[in-house]
Amino acid sequence: NPALTQIGAQMSKLTGVRAIMKDIIETLRAGAGQQFINLSAGNPLILPEVEQLWRDCTAQLLASPEYGEVVCRYGSSQGYTPLVEAIANDFNKRYGLNLSERNILITPGSQTLYFYAVNSFGGYTPSGELKQIVLPLSPDYTGYGGICLVPKALIAYKPTLDIDEAAHRFKYRPDFSQLSITEDTGCVLFSRPCNPTGNVLTDDEVKKIAALAAPYNLPVLIDSAYAPPFPALNFTEMTPVFGDNILHCMSLSKAGLPGERVGIAIGDEKWIEVLECFQANIGLHSSRYGQAIAALAINSGALVEISHTVIRPFYQNKFSVLETSLEQAMPKDLPWFLHRGEGAIFAWLWLEDLPISDWEFYQQLKQVGVIIVPGSTFFPGLEEEWAHKHQCFRISLTGTDEEIATAMQRLAKVAEEAYKGA
Ligand code: PLP
Repeated sequence: NPALTQIGAQMSKLTGVRAIMKDIIETLRAGAGQQFINLSAGNPLILPEVEQLWRDCTAQLLASPEYGEVVCRYGSSQGYTPLVEAIANDFNKRYGLNLSERNILITPGSQTLYFYAVNSFGGYTPSGELKQIVLPLSPDYTGYGGICLVPKALIAYKPTLDIDEAAHRFKYRPDFSQLSITEDTGCVLFSRPCNPTGNVLTDDEVKKIAALAAPYNLPVLIDSAYAPPFPALNFTEMTPVFGDNILHCMSLSKAGLPGERVGIAIGDEKWIEVLECFQANIGLHSSRYGQAIAALAINSGALVEISHTVIRPFYQNKFSVLETSLEQAMPKDLPWFLHRGEGAIFAWLWLEDLPISDWEFYQQLKQVGVIIVPGSTFFPGLEEEWAHKHQCFRISLTGTDEEIATAMQRLAKVAEEAYKGA
């Protein structure tokens, strides 16, 4: 083993769902002859209309005199100016904001943006105080688990559960009786819509969190990777919430451009400047080709249009297929609860009092050719023991309708056996 620094050792570990992905890849490789229904993917599907949009924008870029400027030259750390302007114009018009270019930063994917942010605002201050990175509602995005250079700075809070027993549905809510944002907090971070649960915090819940943070002059990062206006993967009404202490963070990955790595931060100039300097030190700037085609798709309105007419209905329909299949297949007397499908590209299933662990259930499901993700990896920052962490599963909506239906039938059988065996 190479001699590594503390940070080297920490960053070279696979965290969260990446560790499980390794097991999944090995399973798929080892079972070459076996047909698996793989509902583990975090990768969005390639939708033909969306691919065509990016192809058309690329053709337009190739034909324009701007091409050389885009790919043959370095640019500013803040981002490619036409993209920054396109976002400012679009958001000012759409949401009645007053953004200037200084309020916007483009990063190579939003994962990178969270790395800059949590390490700028969370961790040790020069005087040795530990500033916490607060996740107000756990479970949340597994990727938050690997980005803090001071891991103990990450603190997550257990939610409360709204349970509809008769309908076999539930929904997480922030537990405001526990959530603590104080002078020890460095920043607040959550995804809305949420990966893995599909939860959408209400506008009021978001405003309440922002208000709790307001006295401390710290940013509330709202990870809007699935939010409107693009990719608009919300199946319930939601309005992006802006405010003086909110850093609104977006990604083009779920709008068909994950390979190009485009993340966007919108917020107060003083924070954008910090993140921009961090980016200049780490990697100068994002790749400009992705930014240039994004500028074209935003300015023409095509990206918003295709988000609403293609991307959202596609995944919303997958969720209905999953919901219907589970309802038909699951025995009524089992305590199964599906999280309300309010957005994103996943379903989140809770098997209350499951007699085996989520990991064991995942292994048993593999035996019948179905792969989903055990839920315990989606609680970064929540150290305390909580049985619920081992009773949940993330099911990706990226299968075909038939695959989803078959997988839910097999899952129902495995669940029935597991409860019976208790
Ligand atoms: N945030 C959430 C909630 C995600 O689901 C993902 C990717 O799956 C990311 C951030 C990171 O996306 P990217 O770095 O591609 O923008």
